[in-house]
Amino acid sequence: MVNVGDMLVGYATDEDVRKRGASGGLVTAVLAAALEKGLVENVVVMKHVNEFEAVPIITDDVDEVLASTGSLHSVPVNLAKYAMGRKVAMPAKPCDAQAVIEQAKRDMIDLDNTYIVGLNCGGSMHPVTTKKMLVAMYDIDPEDVIGEDIEKGKLIFKTKNGEEKAIAIDELEEAGFGRRESCRFCTLKIPVNADLACGNWGVIGDLAGSATFCQVMNDKGVKLLENALEAGQIKVEPASDKAIAIRAKVNDVMVNLGSTLEKEIFPDIPDEERVQYYMEQMADCIDCGACKEVCPVCACGEDSKCTMFHSLVDNYKMSMYHMVRLLHLTDSCIACGQCSDVCPSDIPITLLQSRFAIPAQRRREYTPGMNVDDVPPFFEVILK
Ligand SMILES: Cc1cc2nc3c(=O)[nH]c(=O)nc-3n(C[C@H](O)[C@H](O)[C@H](O)COP(=O)(O)OP(=O)(O)OC[C@H]3O[C@@H](n4cnc5c(N)ncnc54)[C@H](O)[C@@H]3O)c2cc1C
Ligand code: SF4
Ligand code: SF4
Ligand code: SF4
Repeated sequence: MVNVGDMLVGYATDEDVRKRGASGGLVTAVLAAALEKGLVENVVVMKHVNEFEAVPIITDDVDEVLASTGSLHSVPVNLAKYAMGRKVAMPAKPCDAQAVIEQAKRDMIDLDNTYIVGLNCGGSMHPVTTKKMLVAMYDIDPEDVIGEDIEKGKLIFKTKNGEEKAIAIDELEEAGFGRRESCRFCTLKIPVNADLACGNWGVIGDLAGSATFCQVMNDKGVKLLENALEAGQIKVEPASDKAIAIRAKVNDVMVNLGSTLEKEIFPDIPDEERVQYYMEQMADCIDCGACKEVCPVCACGEDSKCTMFHSLVDNYKMSMYHMVRLLHLTDSCIACGQCSDVCPSDIPITLLQSRFAIPAQRRREYTPGMNVDDVPPFFEVILK
């Protein structure tokens, strides 16, 4: 019997899934069981191409789900948009889960039909940065990498000739590598906004590395776990007090680090210099629209306010496109970093958006993507 609020440690009963899983394969087993037993019609997972490339797939094939085990830290795709219009289960970093909830507020996703298996997230890396970092810091040919792991603050790469090299993430970030900027100031590390919150923090003793700590967040989380238990796909046991305390402590450290880095990443800009700052940052924009295309909280589709100002022949209107986006996403931007990741001109568009959105959200004591019942401040204006 599983209950909301349970803190468990568990793993996949299938030895192969357990071995290939990032930490015991529980997430894969839960997703596979949801499909097998008809809790959902589809599952969203990452289909591996290599350590730095994976494509999100929507599948009803259990074998494809089983093949998708493992965490890809250098594939920072946000999966929310893949859940639209389906009865689906999906793995989700905290920002993925935030985007799902924001889309649900805009009637683009039906949360009753969407099961979110959350993954703790200390951060993800851009694949291009990772490859450069491998050469510069690890002296490893990216082609030789067969696995990566994060343990005790170190980023570890495993190569096909059996080598393992670990470097402290702090050291990597000081050298300009490591996690994406949005991940460095992100302070939602345990996906308490998902149905289950899974991760390796708090997995100790003999189970370290081969089990997942799993917090049951709501009734859908109960259903997911009971379904997998009934299917015989997972084994779980209560987490010890020590395990719970360790998980909480690591989370605190990561959240505090995010808050500290936020102050470094967003130095104050005097009011009178702000317009100049935005214009300078935007100077190289080539008006490709990729930042909107990839944004997981944008729910406007073709009929969007910003693209009304998106003209290929008028630079002034092009900047209006960004201004409209800045305003429109003020209450929904989750600082996921997707827009910066795809920008061909290397414009730090996430930072520009977040510099505007985060203080505005804080003033309203509102965090997007946490609870479907929290009304976004802009909705309140419309409702009034
Ligand atoms: C980018 C990233 C960072 C993480 N950082 C931490 C951390 O700091 N601390 C911690 O406790 N746990 C972290 N995790 C979670 C941890 O790595 C395991 O995923 C978790 O413990 C579940 O293990 P498992 O063996 O049950 O998962 P598996 O059974 O191996 O299943 C993993 C699932 O994750 C999906 N997936 C893989 N890569 C991604 C991705 N980039 N985005 C979304 N989904 C993906 C796969 O499709 C698969 O469904 C992180 C996961 C990711 C993806
Ligand atoms: S923004 Fe936060 S949740 Fe999203 S990938 Fe980065 S650290 Fe993880
Ligand atoms: S504007 Fe950028 S950072 Fe904000 S939610 Fe959209 S893609 Fe993510
Ligand atoms: S992705 Fe970059 S270049 Fe393209 S429109 Fe957005 S800011 Fe401009």
